Amino acid sequence: MIKVLLYLTMTMPIIAFSQGNYWQQEVNYKMEIEVDVERHKFNGHQTLYYTNNSPDTLFKVYYHLYFNAFQPDGMMDVRSRSIQDPDDRVMDRISKLNDHEIGYHIIKTLSQDGTELSYKIEYTVLEVQLAHPIFPGTTTELNMDFKSQIPIQIRRSGRDNKEGISYSMAQWYPKIAAYDARGWHADPYVAREFYAPWGQFDVSITINRNYVVAASGTLENNNEIGYGYQDDPSIDKKNKGKMLTWHFINEKAHDFMWAADPDYIHQIAQVPKGPKLHFFYQQDRATRNWKKLPEILIAAFKYMNAHFGTYPFSDFYVIQGGDGGMEYPMSTLITGHRDLLSLVGVTVHEALHSWYQGVLATNESYYHWMDEGYTSYASSLTMDYLIGAENDRSNAENYVNYFNLVSSGQEEPMSTHADYFETNFAYKRAAYSKGAVSLSQLGYIVGETCLKEILLNYFDQWKFKHPDINDFIKVAEKTSSMELDWYYDYWIYSTKTIDYAIQDVQPVGKSTQIKLQRIDPMPMPIDLVITLKNGSKKCYYIPLGIMRANKKSENAMARQIMKDWHWTHPSYDLFVKVNLDNIKSIEIDPSQRMADIDRSNNSYLHE
Ligand SMILES: [Zn+2]
Repeated sequence: MIKVLLYLTMTMPIIAFSQGNYWQQEVNYKMEIEVDVERHKFNGHQTLYYTNNSPDTLFKVYYHLYFNAFQPDGMMDVRSRSIQDPDDRVMDRISKLNDHEIGYHIIKTLSQDGTELSYKIEYTVLEVQLAHPIFPGTTTELNMDFKSQIPIQIRRSGRDNKEGISYSMAQWYPKIAAYDARGWHADPYVAREFYAPWGQFDVSITINRNYVVAASGTLENNNEIGYGYQDDPSIDKKNKGKMLTWHFINEKAHDFMWAADPDYIHQIAQVPKGPKLHFFYQQDRATRNWKKLPEILIAAFKYMNAHFGTYPFSDFYVIQGGDGGMEYPMSTLITGHRDLLSLVGVTVHEALHSWYQGVLATNESYYHWMDEGYTSYASSLTMDYLIGAENDRSNAENYVNYFNLVSSGQEEPMSTHADYFETNFAYKRAAYSKGAVSLSQLGYIVGETCLKEILLNYFDQWKFKHPDINDFIKVAEKTSSMELDWYYDYWIYSTKTIDYAIQDVQPVGKSTQIKLQRIDPMPMPIDLVITLKNGSKKCYYIPLGIMRANKKSENAMARQIMKDWHWTHPSYDLFVKVNLDNIKSIEIDPSQRMADIDRSNNSYLHE
């Protein structure tokens, strides 16, 4: 046995890299709520076991009370009425809510290990002074009774969405804020992005028995409820009485969402060697498309498991609700009135968030682009696979959107906190498009095969943790054996752009001199391809000195590695032993994975 183990250790690739003194907090929730569907209110009890794995002693804790955002003159309302390009789902709608339509959480009691606590509430943040500190390595029990009113759906969460789904219950409970190496993250809720510690959710929802409840957890009392067996009359007999309690558990999550509607249909499909897929939707004009979704999503999950890491949960829930598409652990809320392509597109995108948000739980406020961007990149690839498109068609759109952002003059560094972008436009293009390009362009720098390994290593090493950009860079550097910090220094922390050009081409005897120019400041390694008049191609690779390594050849073309081009040097003379008369064309990066903002000067045609 020992021999076998030794053999395995010696031959298996080492992909685990040191995580230094990494730690993360643990929070285990037990919640019971009873919903009053007439008044759209619920009473809840929450027991929270908080384990402090940090080296710090905590004297305070913070909770998010997200429903408080849906009140006139609150920060979300005023932000939406002040920003130049408000989300058309929000606009000035919050300012017009009446007392029965707003959302709120009222804290009725709050105690720590039996001692009552003092606290204050400011907008969506509950600030709690602890009765005794939580020392490193210890667990405390926090108990809370609360009463909440579910707002009319304005953004993400709420009642009565535009397609008639009764309850889309995201951000519905007092949620402990994240504490990490940078301290507390009790950001007021103004628009977007979530970040929370890992733990177990044990949630019991009592609601009128005519509702079907779907959630981001596994139903524990299936037999009692007859969930999925609504046609079985023997089960009906057990369900006399007005209310039913639905008991869900999610063993490892950083959030919990649920949705309820009397008209939900429940369809199940099994991914071979993968999760069980659940679909909850109501019978309406889009039902035809929903019925086609399971088969397509099975194919998508097979592809996603192979390319981005194995989905680690037993189930995934696609639930009609919300106001577009939004990701939650093991689940998504999507609007359902869509054509088939849009329905597949949004479902695949939200499902891929299971990888880049549900399992790799970055702080989205700072690393929105590691969530939305990586998800967009992965969904472009998955959609191309499903549609059968050649050459990365959907990903090209990410480049176009990034180029438009640059030319708009509204670009802000990707490192900007998600809430603090000047415009929604700049946020979206940075997080989704420039974020997606960050990965496909990394494929240009390290090579596609290496990029695939990086993504798998990143997922395996950081699943169920909170990686940040430095963690990703470390995985990328170790996997590729390259220095890559320069790439992120430019791409994330600045708005500097890339523009390379072929400045001049001259014959030098039987050779050719190609004068290259770096017009914009951001440096890159250069792939250059010469096409000869006889149709054959020659590939030249010009390394970037600070990378300290060369990528492997990516195709069957003969490749020559040239001398380094240093970032300090604005120009470069490339001598090739090819007669200019034999040259048909010269092109920098024909793959177009380098986000060169002016491609008109990237090629040279020899007449
Ligand atoms: Zn997304």
